[in-house]
This record gives sequence, structure tokens and C-alpha cells, in this order.
Amino acid sequence: MPFGLKSAAQTFQRLMDSVLQEIDSAFVYLDDILIASPTEKEHMDDLKAVFRRLIDHGLVIRLEKCLFGVSSLEFLGHQISKKGSSPTQAKVKVIQTFPQPSTVKGLQEFLGMINFYHRFLPNIAATLSPLYGALKSSKPRQELVWSQEMKQAFLNGKTALANAAMLVHPCTDCPLALTSDASDVAVGAVLEQFNKVSLGIDYIAMARAQAASIDVQAYKTAFTCLEITNTRLNEQGPELVCDVSRGRPRPIIPPDFRRTVFDVVHNLSHPGVKATVKMVSEKFVWHGMRKQVSRWVKECHHCQSSKIQNHTKAPLEHFSVPEKRFSHINIDIVGPLPFSSGFTYLLTIIDRNTRWPEAIPLRGITTPECVHALITGWIARFGVPGDISSDRGSQFTSSLWTEIAARLGVKLHHTSAYHPQANGMIERFHRTLKTALKARLTGPNWVEELPWVLLGLRTTPKEDLGYSSAELVYGEPLTIPGELVPPKSAKSMDDLLLNFRLNIPLYAPLPASHHTSARTYLSPSLLAAKHVYVRRDGTKGPLQRPYSGPYAVLTPGEKTFLIDIGGRTERISVDRIKPAFFDPFQPVILAKPPPRGRPPAKQSHPSRSHPSASSTASKHQQAMSRPAVQTSSRTGRTIRPPMRYQ
Ligand SMILES: [Zn+2]
Repeated sequence: MPFGLKSAAQTFQRLMDSVLQEIDSAFVYLDDILIASPTEKEHMDDLKAVFRRLIDHGLVIRLEKCLFGVSSLEFLGHQISKKGSSPTQAKVKVIQTFPQPSTVKGLQEFLGMINFYHRFLPNIAATLSPLYGALKSSKPRQELVWSQEMKQAFLNGKTALANAAMLVHPCTDCPLALTSDASDVAVGAVLEQFNKVSLGIDYIAMARAQAASIDVQAYKTAFTCLEITNTRLNEQGPELVCDVSRGRPRPIIPPDFRRTVFDVVHNLSHPGVKATVKMVSEKFVWHGMRKQVSRWVKECHHCQSSKIQNHTKAPLEHFSVPEKRFSHINIDIVGPLPFSSGFTYLLTIIDRNTRWPEAIPLRGITTPECVHALITGWIARFGVPGDISSDRGSQFTSSLWTEIAARLGVKLHHTSAYHPQANGMIERFHRTLKTALKARLTGPNWVEELPWVLLGLRTTPKEDLGYSSAELVYGEPLTIPGELVPPKSAKSMDDLLLNFRLNIPLYAPLPASHHTSARTYLSPSLLAAKHVYVRRDGTKGPLQRPYSGPYAVLTPGEKTFLIDIGGRTERISVDRIKPAFFDPFQPVILAKPPPRGRPPAKQSHPSRSHPSASSTASKHQQAMSRPAVQTSSRTGRTIRPPMRYQ
């Protein structure tokens, strides 16, 4: 393969790789060979192995271009030593003295040079973004107009290089952590490793702090089960006051270093209290560690917003069973369901006294449609109820609904947001209705099956009552298909009415049983909390944190809390909140409220913010929280994102 051809470099690299690939300590880039070994003896062996391979393949090296047995050298623009690698001083100097370029091409050169060292420079893309901005849609020879922002970015880039971090060599048996971040202008990720011994803690400074700490010195004379000696954690490390009772040295941590030690151990994977205490106590010692570490874990914002703890269960609201039939009804909407004979929703109604269920198919769920269904499907049969309970679906909170209720003399009750359990009776009805529909359905036409399902539900005796809701309404059971019609018509109408009037009070209504009565749990710390986290409901991304917050509590309560969410007061059920814990010595940082509202409506369909109706509202919210989509590339090309991002 003659030199000078386009693919010469690749071919030569392939050759060198094949020659030296079995020697782990040799690194090759074209004609540069770097041999790094842990000890002098191993280095001699490695050198011999490399020479042997070169001889075998007929390759020759020029002695005057070689460096042997050094502890630090320059390799491909990097200063490599046993500690790690960093940009070479000569190259850094060239960039430091680079004059402010006057053309786009000059700027490209400068950015290229800096980018050669980009992995040593944290957040460099964000730092340089004003300069990248200037490259957009500009011709190479074009004169640059330097804004103040660009000048600052130019200087900041140079400063960043001067302060470039040294990257340590990777360690094969240390844990890896991938840390990533993104902003409007840049994305970044860094693969981090924590050395088993140093764990990112400055032990030299710690040794000094130990000497100055009365706390640590007291350990030397105190009567404990610890064995205190001065020892080194590794060959080069400083001498530290350690406990060696467990076989391996555990440094006694002076007060100023305790938080750092905790952070280093806990922040890797945010384990719980028990695991963190165990991990810290395996490696370190200090008085009161268990208590302090437990508190810090409890106060960790990342843990609090990510981990689901014992969900608070609000005691269910006990509506006493109304004495009069049809005086208090629950109302709700089911859907969207599969399209059937033009219908996609159901308005469901249940009487709290007799538990008579009604389900009226709806084409749409606007307030007028719901009002019409209520009047024809319920009020026309059972009269005007005194009270109507519903959730906070937009139909049931609209001014039209409220107005009509006021005219009819109906009192409206709303359950708190996202706490459908308080509407328990109708939720249970939905469950049985859906199960029955599913069980009966052979095709998509649920509208045809609905009357039969309702008949079944009305004639099934309630377990706790012993009567069906049909009996409570009509005074006798209804006849179901296939049943022989009983000879009841023999009685005169007067007798029947008398019997009915006498018997109805005997069907004493019982309080509805709370089948869903989960263990109520209200932690004392929640009642005393000044700040809380709020559980997000609706669909969550697979890695989205389940809680948002912390938010300030305005008024606590037994079932609901008034909470200040970014200046907006919201009443939220205690089921969805948990107390927030903070470091009392740090200022409290409150969360920004989640984005709200819906994107510009395309559908004519009024969507509801109803939990069981659909999850569209939360999907809209997610869509809203997505960052704005870029419409042109860096080179000025127009980007057309796929439909789902628009
Ligand atoms: Zn944590």
C-alpha cells in the first residue's frame, strides 16, 4: 500500500492494530505507539513483546524519535501521565493567544481547535453557543460582526481551556455513572467513575481537618469497641485516624466532611435510608452517623420526588344514606367508548338510596347534551333530586349546569380534583357496568346490549341489602327473560299500592358499604407539613418522576389541602400529597408549577379534564412541556419534524 492514497491511513492503522492488538498495554495511532505499564518490570516485558511483534512483521522504528522509561509524555496533543491526561501546554498556549477572528472561516478554525479538547471542558457547547450562532447561514469569507455576547463567549472559551480538567484513566473495576443534562442550546453527557479508594474525597484536606477536630481526637482516648490507629488508605495517601476493628480501615470523619461523604455515597444511585447507612458505615465512622444519614436521605429532593412512599389514604367521605328515594344522585360520564350506533359516551346516574342505576348513551359530552340526557333519562322518571354529586368534569362545573341546577333547586356537590374514590358509589357502578358489557359483548355494538345489562344490574340483589334496586323502586322484583311471569296480576291495584306503601319503609336503606375502603393512612408529619410533594396523575413517561414539588401548604385539612402551586391556589386531595423534608439550614427552593392548558384546539370536540374519561388532558400537558422544536438547522436548512412533534 503506497502512501499518498486516500485510504492509506486507514489501511496502515488496520495493519498496526493487527500487529499489536494482543498487547493490552500498547496503544497505537498510525505510527505513534504508546506503551504504558503499571511497574518497571512489566514495562520491560511489554517493550520486549512489542519489539518482537515489530520484528516479526518487518517493521522498523527510528530510535531518535522514541522516548523510553518516562513517567509523562506528549501523545497526540495530550499530556499523558500516570494521573491522567490533559491538553498539552503548547497547544493550549496557541489557542490562548489566538486573535479574535474577523471572518467566519477564522471563527471555524478557532472552534475546531477548542473542540479538539471538548471532553476536558464541561458545558463547552453551551459556553460557545453564541459563536455557533454566528456560523449559521454565513459564507466562509464573510466579515464577522462581533456582538458583546460573542466576545464574552470567545473569552470564556479560552478561560475554560486554561482551567481544563485533567481526566483520569478509566478504572476497569470501578462503578460507572452516566450523568446527562440538556438545555435549550446544548445537550451533554459525561461518563463518570468513582475510584474505590478516593471516592472523590480530598483525603489530604481531611487529614488536616482530623488533626484540628476535637471530636476526632477524642476517639483516640474514648472507651469504645473501635480500634483507633493512624493509618494510610493507600501508599501515597495521607495518614488518617481510622478504625480498624472491622479488618479494613474506616476513617473517622470530621464534621465538615460528613456531608461530602454522604453525597458521594448516596448520589450514585440514591438508595434508601437503610442501604445508605450501611454503605456509609462500611467505609466511614462518625458519631451520630445513623441519625444524620437518615435525615439527609429523607431530605434528598431527588429521592423525594422520585420514590413512591406509603400513599396517604383519605378517609372516604361518608354521605349518610338519604332517607328519601331519588333525593340524592351521583352522576358521571364514561368514555370515550368504541363508536356504536353513533354513540361514544355514557351518562351514568345512580340513586344513593335505592342504588337504581341508569346509563344513557351520549353522542357528545357538551353541557347541553348532558343536561338533556339528565332531564329525559332521569328527571322525567324519578323527579328532580335534591342533591347531585359529581366530579369536577367541565360539564358539571360549567356555568350552564350550575344555572340549571339553581333553577331546579338542586344542590351540587363536587369531589376534589383527581379523587374519584369520593364518588365511590358511581365508580363501583362503572366497574360492574363495564365488566358486564365486556362479558356480554360479541361485537362492537354495546348500545344494543346496554338495556339488558342494566336490567341485570337492577334485578341483582345487593349483597348487603338482600334486595335488588328494582325491588326498592317498584316494591317487587322485575321479571327477567326466561322467567315465568308470576301470577301477581291477580291482586287488585289498590291492594298492590297498599302493600307497596306498607312495605317500602321496611326496606330500610343501609349505609353503602365501602368495598374500596383501603386502610386510611394520614401521617402526622403530613398534617404538620409546611411543604409537600404532589403526585402526578395521568400517564407518565417511563422515567418521569411520580411527584412534583415541593410546594407550599396554605391550609392543611383532613381530606384536602389548599396548596400554592406557583402562585395558583389549588385544592388537592391528601391521597396525592406527601410531606416534603428539607435541610433546616438550607433555603427552601420551591418548584415551578407544571405547564398547564391545552394546545391550540384543532378538534371541535370539547375535551374534558376528567380522570376516567380520557388521559388526553395529561397528554396535552406532556406535549406542552416538550421543548420547542427547532425549525432550521445550524447551516440554515429547514427542518420538518414528524407530525407528532408539531
Ligand atoms: Zn437521594
